[in-house]
Amino acid sequence: MANTQDKFEVVVAGGGMVGLTLGLALARAGVETAVVDGLDPARVVDAKFDGRVSSFSPASRRMLEALGLWGHLADRAQPVTDIIVGDGSVREGASAALLHFDHREMGEAPLAHMIENRHFRMALQRGIEGVGALTLIAPERVLAATVERNFADVQLGSGRRLKASLVVAADGRDSPLREAMGIKTVGWSYKQTGIVATIGHEKPHEGTAYELFFGSGPFAILPMTGNRSSIVWSERVDQALAFVQLDDAAFVAEVAQRFGDQWGRLSLEGPRWSYPLSMHLAMSYVGLRFALAGDAAHGVHPIAGQGLNLGLRDAAALAETIAEARSIGLDIGSEVALARYQSWRRFDNALFTASFDALNRLFSNDIAPLAGLRRMGLDVVDSIAPLKRFFMQQASDGTGELPKLMRG
Ligand SMILES: Cc1cc2nc3c(=O)[nH]c(=O)nc-3n(C[C@H](O)[C@H](O)[C@H](O)COP(=O)(O)OP(=O)(O)OC[C@H]3O[C@@H](n4cnc5c(N)ncnc54)[C@H](O)[C@@H]3O)c2cc1C
Repeated sequence: MANTQDKFEVVVAGGGMVGLTLGLALARAGVETAVVDGLDPARVVDAKFDGRVSSFSPASRRMLEALGLWGHLADRAQPVTDIIVGDGSVREGASAALLHFDHREMGEAPLAHMIENRHFRMALQRGIEGVGALTLIAPERVLAATVERNFADVQLGSGRRLKASLVVAADGRDSPLREAMGIKTVGWSYKQTGIVATIGHEKPHEGTAYELFFGSGPFAILPMTGNRSSIVWSERVDQALAFVQLDDAAFVAEVAQRFGDQWGRLSLEGPRWSYPLSMHLAMSYVGLRFALAGDAAHGVHPIAGQGLNLGLRDAAALAETIAEARSIGLDIGSEVALARYQSWRRFDNALFTASFDALNRLFSNDIAPLAGLRRMGLDVVDSIAPLKRFFMQQASDGTGELPKLMRG
């Protein structure tokens, strides 16, 4: 394969959940696209690879429908009908609800759907089958990309080289390509670890998600299909390792202390995972023949379960920007064509990144005046129906113009 030249209109470096969705959206619009990922496709759908479950907003669900992916997922998606926000206390469990989002205040549709990451990855792999304009090259690493005046040259680990009008880095938080292109980021570590595990419980969850605030960080309980919930437990780094290393029975006992006993006896279903939590935002999303999408462009705290939703929105906006530029004969890698994507997505992502950062700071502490302030704030939101609907609307559709793929 060495030194084989391949030409595409777009090369996407990174075929994670955002990169592969972007590749599919571009290919469905007729844009010749290659997606390159360093990992074996069989490995990323293995139950041991990623135990996370993601919340898909209604806008993201409409995108999955438009791309023909929802049919592979509908049976595996758990609707979220209620979200309860409260303070938590180790040993006493959850306080009375301070804020209750009920889907009926907005209509019939659920507030979100929870889908296991591996099921979404499987749906993507099935969804790209037979899509002629899309080539998935994996496992294969992108080593570097060189931007020339009229094309970009992408060098792969095997020695193969790809030429394209545009290269998109969707290669995750540490984005080697973003670094190589010299794009700076602002950000910081939260000094928190996100502990993720699937918990079985005796009683049904009735589609209810909980977000409980403990001094060391938020503790989310997210409904999955069956009598199962996924926990995303944000814990101080110095304490998290000890919790992760507990034996199963002791770990479940710690979870039960935070969870309370409303769902009966708890059990651990499968392994535990841990993720360092940090935030970052790229200073620029585009350059000549270059763009960033997903976690390569922004990383947010999982407090509101929106990182992937923001990335999918990048993918929808970038695919629309490229397809429209192409339809009027513009060079899709030109700075003129890409400027629309930058102005469309950077402000939106900056706003959400800052909001989740502020939420995590306000809620990850036990300082009495702040705890009082947040209780008062949640009470106010809970008692003013239009304000509550505003928050539900923002979580559903985000801010600004919705890309066509997300409009339904
Ligand atoms: C604990 C936790 C819970 C979360 N829960 C939610 C949630 O409920 N809802 C939500 O919306 N978001 C959630 N998120 C965020 C979400 O998981 C991420 O935003 C999302 O996975 C980012 O996807 P991505 O494709 O941009 O990046 P990644 O998933 O990091 O994918 C990057 C890909 O690039 C590939 N790659 C990297 N370098 C190279 C290279 N040199 N060559 C080739 N390939 C390369 C990698 O193999 C990988 O496949 C959560 C995050 C955490 C940590």
